[in-house]
Amino acid sequence: MTAPPNPDTRPLVLIGGTVFDDDARTFRRADAVCREGRIEALAESVTAPQGALAIDCSGKYLLPGLIDCHVHITGSGDPTELNTANTTPLATRAWRAARYAEQTLMAGFTTVRDLGAADQLNIHLASAIESGLLRGPRMLAAGLGVTMTGGHGSGFIATEADGPDAVRKAVRQQLRAGATAIKLFASGGVMTPGVDPRSPSFTEDELRAGVEEAHKAFRIVGAHAQATEGVKNAIRAGVDSIEHGVWLDDEAIHLMCERGTYLVATFTAPWQIAHRGTEAGIPAFMVAKGWQVLDSHEQSIRAAIKAGVRMAMGTDQGTPMNHPGENAQEIIRLAALGLSPAAALLASTAWAAELLRISDRTGRIRPGLAADLLVLDTDPLADIGVLANQSAIRAVIQAGAIVRSSLPEIEGNT
Ligand SMILES: [Zn+2]
Repeated sequence: MTAPPNPDTRPLVLIGGTVFDDDARTFRRADAVCREGRIEALAESVTAPQGALAIDCSGKYLLPGLIDCHVHITGSGDPTELNTANTTPLATRAWRAARYAEQTLMAGFTTVRDLGAADQLNIHLASAIESGLLRGPRMLAAGLGVTMTGGHGSGFIATEADGPDAVRKAVRQQLRAGATAIKLFASGGVMTPGVDPRSPSFTEDELRAGVEEAHKAFRIVGAHAQATEGVKNAIRAGVDSIEHGVWLDDEAIHLMCERGTYLVATFTAPWQIAHRGTEAGIPAFMVAKGWQVLDSHEQSIRAAIKAGVRMAMGTDQGTPMNHPGENAQEIIRLAALGLSPAAALLASTAWAAELLRISDRTGRIRPGLAADLLVLDTDPLADIGVLANQSAIRAVIQAGAIVRSSLPEIEGNT
């Protein structure tokens, strides 16, 4: 997973801003020199290299490019687009996915993990972006998720398998297709008709087989897990992250702390389904289940934060009324549920990169890492809501390439 090529080979210098220091959890004054896609230097005052493009960031706030650990980028948030994917021509879905990827990047999300797409479209989109054919975030892509017969996700974003050997084979099939992450379904969920989110699905043995195959290939595993027993089966089987975690009891939280399992809560998904409702065109069975999970989900997220469970931000973008480019609403929700603004930023940058095992490449503003940057008008520690205000985002930079910018250039450097 590398960033797309940057056609502008000039060094990029960002002058006069303050940068997010993930250790101190605050902003400090620094200029940044970016070259060949990476941050080369950070200092209170730098001399722009010969021929550099210099940008005036005076009074601005620089964050690492944001990371969304759970998207379905092939979905727009149209209420039934994801789970009717198989009745829409593949080419149509591919053009749309290209648009959604660009919208996500423009909102400041320079990296995402896609946890399930029909026809493994996410894998093909990731390689089109990586080759420079399309604009979009760097992507880890799971291909199809793996679920039990009749389980959640079956028939749209997941393939069915039963028994440890079949799960192994299904995971190997995703790896063969080029998956850079793996998704397993450990319980029921909201978006599949007739499937109860309180019901566990794969057994611990089935999950362990899938985890072994993924880890053997150095890939991380995210487990869709809402039901308490499903969550615990997944943690014990060694998954890297619990996706959703609707019904977390004390034991589940204790296990997550003990094993370092991340929670990717995606609270935006049920919130939007429940609150936007059938008036938005969301099927009634989904709305009913959205309300069924909402209160418990909120309590579980609050309890996990309080207990110190590792948090990584993910939206489940692509689910009903959960649109590409609006991903930052989850960061704001996490802050409302008990994460400090600094921790909510870390969950969306440094900690997300740790979960995805890419912190040697991105997630922090440090020399040697990719120049993935977001430049804001307002201090997000004082007003986390600024992340959802597109006009307050003054620049998005991915691997040293300016994706968009309304900041003035400083003349006289060339
Ligand atoms: Zn999902």
